[in-house]
Amino acid sequence: MNINAATPKSTAGIVWPALPEPRAAALLALQYQLEQTEWWSAEALREAQMNQLGALLHHAYETIPFYRKRLSAAGYQPNKPLTAEIFARIPLLRRSEIQAQGKALLSQQVHPAHGRVTTGVTSGSMGRPITYFGTELAQYFWQAFTLREHVWHGRDIMGRMAAIRSELDDAVAPTWGPPTSMVFPTVSCATLGVRTDVSAQLDWLLKHEVEYLLSYPTNVRALAEASLARKVQLNRLLEVRTLGEMVDPDLRALCRQAWGVGLVDIYSAREVGYLALQCPDHEHYHVQSENVLVEVLDDHDNPCAVGEIGRVVVSTLNNFAMPLIRYEILDHAEVGASCPCGRGLPVLKRILGRQRNMVTFPNGHRHWPSTGYKEWSTRLPILQAQIVQRSLTIVEAKLVPTRPLTPADETEFAAILHRSLGYPFEIVFSYHQKIPRSAGGKFEDFLSEVG
Ligand SMILES: [Zn+2]
Repeated sequence: MNINAATPKSTAGIVWPALPEPRAAALLALQYQLEQTEWWSAEALREAQMNQLGALLHHAYETIPFYRKRLSAAGYQPNKPLTAEIFARIPLLRRSEIQAQGKALLSQQVHPAHGRVTTGVTSGSMGRPITYFGTELAQYFWQAFTLREHVWHGRDIMGRMAAIRSELDDAVAPTWGPPTSMVFPTVSCATLGVRTDVSAQLDWLLKHEVEYLLSYPTNVRALAEASLARKVQLNRLLEVRTLGEMVDPDLRALCRQAWGVGLVDIYSAREVGYLALQCPDHEHYHVQSENVLVEVLDDHDNPCAVGEIGRVVVSTLNNFAMPLIRYEILDHAEVGASCPCGRGLPVLKRILGRQRNMVTFPNGHRHWPSTGYKEWSTRLPILQAQIVQRSLTIVEAKLVPTRPLTPADETEFAAILHRSLGYPFEIVFSYHQKIPRSAGGKFEDFLSEVG
């Protein structure tokens, strides 16, 4: 049943119209508003964003000394409305600053209505991970946009989902999980770790016969190629969903060729939530203006025009624990023209962000690489690491250390890498002041010279 025609879960005894429990009702209330605001004009959206940013900046000014200084220097005055001119004068927030400031970016006083403050670490695939803090309320917004994404793409809530991602075990959950399962009756979601060999992943997908597949573009490409090579079909599959890396246009064509289905991409980041979702009617993206203000800036920090590619700079609107104001997230995007679908949410034609290589074992098995950043970044004096597979048996660990590594440190790093990659490669260490980004500004934490 299409999610747009589905009846929400209801209170006992009430079949129709449904009366959802309070948290689900609040999610639907937010959804109702999002279904209005997505049609607002760009100007109306921008004005509402400035109002929300005004509230957030006021809070940041009052409770975060780092921002008080920065906002004052930009000419911000807490008793005056925030203008676009003042906002544009706030310096960009670099990842290195977030790393250096640490808890100095954390608000000293978050309103109790925003719930507990939680913390997390970004994926290491963008270089050195950053620690971020959010509120339960910000998580709630995350869920609202997850629901919007299902609504936009009219998913069948009786369809079975498969997720192949990092940090997942081979398991089957009885529902899609929150937020969708809070609001609607959904069926199963099968999960599998992305470090599983590609051919074994395909066997697993054939066994589970799912309608939806969610994974990383690199992994989807390998699965589609394996399907074609083995001449097997995923007969029930309706749609591929991707996140976490850039999508090349030819990947969409490959999914159609291999499985006869389209691909829907999600642009999100752990520290900010959803930045943009694919339009229901087109292959480009709509910025999620109710969650973030996205700027695309050129080399002189001026806004890019339609058709130009620039750096993505994002300001979160609802995270009062650690507001990220004009945060340079190190992705690039091409500004798109307004969408024929009629939604006023700004358009990103394409995202030029992370792209990864697969790791290959001597026996030919391949999988999406994990480099164990969570372990080494907390246990060893390493700022940044780039792993380069030089041959089927040798990988180079290019490290930017904060102090020279001891032999014991190297042994520990090697053990983490062996565990994470899933094979006891010979490891060659090299030490660097800095690891350059590839053309286009991407940092690649894993590169392969094999095949
Ligand atoms: Zn559109």
